[in-house]
Parts: sequence; C-alpha cells; structure tokens
Amino acid sequence: MSEVDKPDVDKIAELITNAVMEHRLAPGSKLSESRMADAFKVSRTKIRQALMVLAENGLVQLFPNRGAFITSPTVPEALEVFSARRLLEPEVVRGVIVHAKKADFKLLHKHLEQESEARKSNSRRAIIRLSGDFHLLLASMCGNRYIEKMMSELCPLTCLIIALYDIPQAPACPENDHANIVKAIEQGEESLAVELMLHHLAHIESALHLDGANDANEVDWEKILG
Ligand SMILES: [Zn+2]
Repeated sequence: MSEVDKPDVDKIAELITNAVMEHRLAPGSKLSESRMADAFKVSRTKIRQALMVLAENGLVQLFPNRGAFITSPTVPEALEVFSARRLLEPEVVRGVIVHAKKADFKLLHKHLEQESEARKSNSRRAIIRLSGDFHLLLASMCGNRYIEKMMSELCPLTCLIIALYDIPQAPACPENDHANIVKAIEQGEESLAVELMLHHLAHIESALHLDGANDANEVDWEKILG
C-alpha cells in the first residue's frame, strides 16, 4: 500500500464491512488495533476511529481493557434483525416501485447478472456478498434515506447471523428469488413484490438454526454421558 493509497477512516470501515459481508471475518473475531494499523499502514488513532464507526453500526463491539471484536449476534438479536427487516423491506419494495427510474432497473439487472455469474462459477464469497448487496441496492432506490440507513446496518448484521447460524453449504439468498422480486417491481405488481420479499426473508430465516438447537450454551448431556 503506497502513501497515496492509505485508506481513510470511512474506507477502513468499509473494507471491514465487506470482509464481514463475504464471511472473511467471522463473528467474535478479535480486532487488534496494532495489527490492523500495520496491515492498513495507518495510525492506531485512525483504526480506533474506524472501529468506533463500526461500533455505532453494531458490527463491532468494544470492551474496556479487552478491545474490539466483530459482533456475535445472539439468537434473540438475530430474531430482532429479521423482524426489523420484515417491517422495512415491504416499504423498500413499495418505494422502489414509486421512485425507480430506467437507470435504476439497469443497475438492478446488472446486479442480477453478476449474481448469476457468481453462482455459475460457484464463488461462494461473491455469492454471499452480492446477495447482501442486492438488498442494499434496492434500499438505495426506495427514496427514504432513513430506511436506507437502517438497511445498511441490518444487512451486514444479517451476514454475521448467517455466518453464525447457517446450515453449512446452504446458499445465501435462494436462486431466482431476487430476479422474481425485480420482475414484480418492474411490472408495478406491488402486492406480489411485497409477498415475494416476505417469502424470501422467511426462507433465509428458516434456513438458519435459530431454534436454539445449535446454541453453544446448550449442553447435550445425553450425548456426553451416553
Ligand atoms: Zn436476498
């Protein structure tokens, strides 16, 4: 990294968010300020500022004397994230139907192409990141900056939840779901688009172990003593 390439605080926060979105940074990972300062070739002050930005977004947790860690959402927190998305994303869909211009649909179709290419080449990291990005892209077109802001916090958290509670090898967002949502939006079919979105979110949630069966705190004594 040369002098001119030195990332600023927002860039560092963005790079860490991307790493989470691609499951390169696992929930609970310790973020050492000094090692990050070396890796990013910036001062520890800048790293600390970036970690504070991420902590505000809920992606990082800061503990006095222990340092910074990638958030590890609990099952109740995961359920809250999905419940918030169920409230917001129908409104995203409605907003996009009202506000999206031709150029926006071009962007959406380009994104769908990238998703299908990533699936074809079986690039899991790209699939996971693009799946999350799709929801952020839609939110950026809904004409409501507050919803967009909330979605920009909820999407990376959803990635963390998927990393923690996913059934191994389960796909991020089911194939074709996004394309069907875009089609319904493009045709102005509001109730269908909302229904598809809610079904899509329910599918992602149901593919996770959020019933406590995989809760690390739950000891399977039968198995241990059997
Ligand atoms: Zn999706």
